[in-house]
Amino acid sequence: MRQMIAGNWKMNGTLAGLSAYASALRQGVEGVDLLVCPPFPLIRPLIEALGDASIWVGAQDCDAKRSGPHTGDVSADLLAELGARHVILGHSERRADHGESSTLVRDKARAASAAGLVPVICVGETEAERDAHETETVVRAQLAGSLPDGFSGLIAYEPVWAIGSGKTPSEDEVEAMHRAIRASLKKQLGEAGEAMPILYGGSVKPANAETLMRIPEVGGALVGGASLKAEDFLAIASAA
Ligand code: 13P
Repeated sequence: MRQMIAGNWKMNGTLAGLSAYASALRQGVEGVDLLVCPPFPLIRPLIEALGDASIWVGAQDCDAKRSGPHTGDVSADLLAELGARHVILGHSERRADHGESSTLVRDKARAASAAGLVPVICVGETEAERDAHETETVVRAQLAGSLPDGFSGLIAYEPVWAIGSGKTPSEDEVEAMHRAIRASLKKQLGEAGEAMPILYGGSVKPANAETLMRIPEVGGALVGGASLKAEDFLAIASAA
């Protein structure tokens, strides 16, 4: 199956920088799916700048409600209308900074799917949980709580301690966790869990992308910092 290289810009990027980024990305990479998730206000301008290139644009969050009195929040339906195709949900920065629970992530995933968006649900353990040998238990509980029944979308395994730190788990650790996630997906979703892509995220760079993308059960990457420069993002995509 084709791998997906997804960029999560987090709270970075400017309108002024879009056109250069988009034209670099338009040169593209064959044989891999590309997705870029900028901040909300840049979604539509990025889609326009990318034009007819087959590169998907997504969002980094959405509300669990379809519409209504929720000041500052953005609905999945509006994101779909803007042309977003995916939405990242349950990123550890949202779980930590905004107190998002797995139950809320599940409700957001329902709203996203109802709007026709493809959710990318993030799971991953903190350093303290890893040190306490709780990695699998924590991730299994996040999957059990965050995935609605009949979930269709992607999973991103992002160890919190690997995000923005330059540290990554060993190849064996990545493989073991992706296999554990696969087992949970099959248990929760049956046949639908067998082929669901599981992305790895956390300090993916051009220098380590090839090694990480060759690990069994790794269906692609969710890239933070290194997705901000088109040349780094494309270098990672070439390694997929
Ligand atoms: P970095 O690639 O900057 O470590 O971020 C990973 C991430 O959080 C992507 O969602």
